[in-house]
Amino acid sequence: MATERKDVKQPKPLPAPNSDFYEFAETLPAEELAIVKKVRTYMETNVAPIINKYWVEDAFPFELLPSFKELNIGGLGIHGYGCAGGSQLLVGLLGIEMARVDVSIATFFGVHSHLAMGSIAIAGSEEQKQKWLPPMARMEKIGCFGLTEPLVGSGAAGGLTTTAKREGDTWVLNGQKRWIGNAPWCDISIIWARDVADNQVTGFIVENKTTPGFSVEKMQNKIALKVVQNGQITLKDCRVPEANRLAAGARSFRDTARVLRGTRYYVGWEATGCQMGAYEHAVKYAQERLQFGKPIGSFQLIQDFLAKMLGNITACQCMLARTAQLADEGKLTDQQAALSKAFTTAKARETVSWARELLGGNGILLDYNVARFFADAEALYSYEGTYQMQHLIVGKAVTGFSAFV
Ligand SMILES: Cc1cc2nc3c(=O)[nH]c(=O)nc-3n(C[C@H](O)[C@H](O)[C@H](O)COP(=O)(O)OP(=O)(O)OC[C@H]3O[C@@H](n4cnc5c(N)ncnc54)[C@H](O)[C@@H]3O)c2cc1C
Repeated sequence: MATERKDVKQPKPLPAPNSDFYEFAETLPAEELAIVKKVRTYMETNVAPIINKYWVEDAFPFELLPSFKELNIGGLGIHGYGCAGGSQLLVGLLGIEMARVDVSIATFFGVHSHLAMGSIAIAGSEEQKQKWLPPMARMEKIGCFGLTEPLVGSGAAGGLTTTAKREGDTWVLNGQKRWIGNAPWCDISIIWARDVADNQVTGFIVENKTTPGFSVEKMQNKIALKVVQNGQITLKDCRVPEANRLAAGARSFRDTARVLRGTRYYVGWEATGCQMGAYEHAVKYAQERLQFGKPIGSFQLIQDFLAKMLGNITACQCMLARTAQLADEGKLTDQQAALSKAFTTAKARETVSWARELLGGNGILLDYNVARFFADAEALYSYEGTYQMQHLIVGKAVTGFSAFV
């Protein structure tokens, strides 16, 4: 058995990569911290070893669904109706834990739990919440959120072309939705359409597997978030009962915006997790990769990259932690959520590009993991409202002038 010789100086063990430099997770109460640790272990044990293979194949890892359900985090941040509940900081730190290993898994969960379930929680009637939220919280039914259209992206607030026409107790939906995450395989679609009677935007719960007139085609050839299955939905005389119209409020785009206010800053948490994953892989690489006979981590310019990345990550965590406090207090405004989304996703682009550069040629090889974060950051920057749209929301709030058109 090898024993350590006391007379020979052993090299000091190198620090393990740690992107939570200011120990944010430690600010959670013990029971929420335990959930963060559970999800971290799950992501590192179950997702990390297989995710590159699925990314290459443009496929969703359905093999993970049974164990993912057992995490019991469906309906995170939503209280009652069998949902996981928890503080907004917990919502965010779980977004980080998922995205730190894979942004697609964080997105799949965000679309289901925050966008689809969140629409019902915010704009649904009491009966609708009782009916739909419990099975979605158990993740027996998976949801998607259909707002964007082939010809209408940033301009969704005023320009949706999908129509809803009331015929007695039925609504007839016609139109198309594009980019809809989870749509090719999920069970429940929240579809936003314009009521032809008054031009107001209204949300509908569509049971897409059993409603005639609903079809979906998987989008191909994405270069980011390849594990998330995005679909183009076609609604052709798709008949939905009045009972499935989001009835508590959704009678204008303001209600859609209320859903997006929460989910937009969730994208900020995903963007922070994305940076943390790329940073940790970069630190490890810097400790191991030798050039000029030394670890590249010992070079000043490489250390500069790492310190800049950590600064970005920590700035994003601080901004989002305050955003979460405002959300918990019910005070979060659209412009605050918009600034958080814009800032963190822009920083994510910067951080992942530094991580990519630090790895040299290996930075563009999937096997070294940073390349996946590098590509995925692009989608975060554009989805749920582009950087420009977020800044226009902020710009309008601070100047009093709308510059949208
Ligand atoms: C991976 C991915 C997943 C997505 N998932 C979903 C989903 O689940 N559900 C859903 O409904 N949608 C989803 N989307 C759609 C997403 O929200 C839209 O892509 C986004 O809102 C931008 O719309 P667009 O792509 O049509 O771009 P466009 O609106 O065509 O914008 C193109 C460019 O013009 C800029 N621009 C537009 N108007 C202005 C202006 N007035 N001033 C200055 N610049 C302007 C934009 O910032 C952008 O840079 C997803 C998108 C992606 C990429």
